[in-house]
Amino acid sequence: MKVPFIDLKRAHDPIRGEILEAFARTLDHGEFCLGTEVSNFETGFAAVQGLSCVVGVGSGTEALHLIACALELGPEDEVIVPAFTFIASAWLPEYVGAKLVFADIDPETYTIDPKSIESNATEKTKAIVATHLFGLPADMDSIQRIADQLGAKVVEDAAQAHMAKYKGRPVGEIGDAGAFSFYPTKNLGGLGEGGCVSSKNSALLEKVAILRAHGSKERYLNHFVGYNNRMEGLQAAALNVKLPYLEAKTERRREIADKYAQGIILQNAVLPHEPNWGRSVFHMYTLQHPDRDRLKTYLAEKGIGTDIVYPYPLHLQPCFADRGYGVGSFPESEKLAKHCLSLPIVPELTDAEVDYVIESINAFS
Ligand SMILES: *Cc1c(COP(=O)(O)O)cnc(C)c1O
Repeated sequence: MKVPFIDLKRAHDPIRGEILEAFARTLDHGEFCLGTEVSNFETGFAAVQGLSCVVGVGSGTEALHLIACALELGPEDEVIVPAFTFIASAWLPEYVGAKLVFADIDPETYTIDPKSIESNATEKTKAIVATHLFGLPADMDSIQRIADQLGAKVVEDAAQAHMAKYKGRPVGEIGDAGAFSFYPTKNLGGLGEGGCVSSKNSALLEKVAILRAHGSKERYLNHFVGYNNRMEGLQAAALNVKLPYLEAKTERRREIADKYAQGIILQNAVLPHEPNWGRSVFHMYTLQHPDRDRLKTYLAEKGIGTDIVYPYPLHLQPCFADRGYGVGSFPESEKLAKHCLSLPIVPELTDAEVDYVIESINAFS
């Protein structure tokens, strides 16, 4: 049996007709940059996610950048970012010239460790990036408590966490601002790039909306130095087709995660942990095993696609080699990078495929 790690064709085949219709509709009205499809998507996504409002942009990375601009972070400021996440979390301070400061992750949840935030904070710390990694919300109350003491903002990197809940509250409006991504492989993905910014602060969202369109409120009158970070009409049209399926797809991810948690019995393996504060949406199902590389090769021989997400912690990335970090700076991040293996968890997997993954893992020796 072949079990794909990701299979976008399988995800899109059943809605091919609906997507083509949405594209035809967009061709007819011709609103390709922002416009009706985008504003419908902004309203629809906010409703499904349980947020008051979102602003559509070109990608999750652009969302993080515009948040840094709207919070007016700059060279005098330090921003704390987890050492184990997707690289774009670290671009937030980088793009505005702020100082990037790493913190380690909690070994059980893989999200930023509040204790490590405390030990790496200074009086210059102006923001903390809380990445809801692999679909699990970070420990937001502890992070917020530290941020309040420091007078720092909290940015939620929710690129992997559509519909995730922290103590029953949707992610994205818990901190000062949130960034979502609609990259094709995310839990809600377009047919190309896309993202949005969320915030309970409507003034901040309004600023992001101005910055995404050349800093202009009124046509050809530019109040701020802005960017071209508009969401595209065709992307929003595709996302509008996919949005109504997100809740069921999310439930299916959780169901597969549950099957893995119940079924996998492998010595020395550590399975993902869901703390009582968070409802994970399992963007990834990432286990740890001391013999990770051999397990990955074995599963590949069985026809099972897996991925190492992520093989390098950010403080050891070549682009940050001059920041004074080295091997040993963040032991938990380094350990996870060595031991992590992500199993297939796309919602289109059949039960037979999930059972086959479980049986194969349990037969590993
Ligand atoms: C995907 C991702 C991003 C970036 O989103 P893009 O839409 O690809 O730019 C940022 N942070 C995390 C944690 C991500 O997984």
